[in-house]
Amino acid sequence: MKSSAEQAAIEKRLKAAGVRPTAQRIALARFLLNGADHPTAEDVKKWADENFPKMSLATVYNTLALLVRAKLIKEVKLPHTSRVIYDDRVSAHYHFLDEKSGKIYDVDPSEVEVKPRLKKNASVRGVEVLLRGRWG
Ligand SMILES: [Zn+2]
Repeated sequence: MKSSAEQAAIEKRLKAAGVRPTAQRIALARFLLNGADHPTAEDVKKWADENFPKMSLATVYNTLALLVRAKLIKEVKLPHTSRVIYDDRVSAHYHFLDEKSGKIYDVDPSEVEVKPRLKKNASVRGVEVLLRGRWG
């Protein structure tokens, strides 16, 4: 987690996305872009409290909003919870909720067939799919 190569890579990604890489932004981006698993803002704050105790809640929220605007992460609203989750996979994909563990898995759209029968003039801009069950 502490490798400077990783830190440099994150810094580069932030800069490429037009985000000024401050120490706090780099720290949060490292968490969000390297293995955080669909965290809520509360999860991110909890991680920050454990690792960067001086980071304020406002910084966490502002950085999340900034990273979303920079398209490095996206906000996802799933129907099983009122909370927004943050996803570092910004390309289109579906989600699978393991109802026992509460863990959310990414599912490639090619693995799920969605065939909407719509009127001729309808145009689809996006598809949200949440599968539920046991992941296995
Ligand atoms: Zn996802």
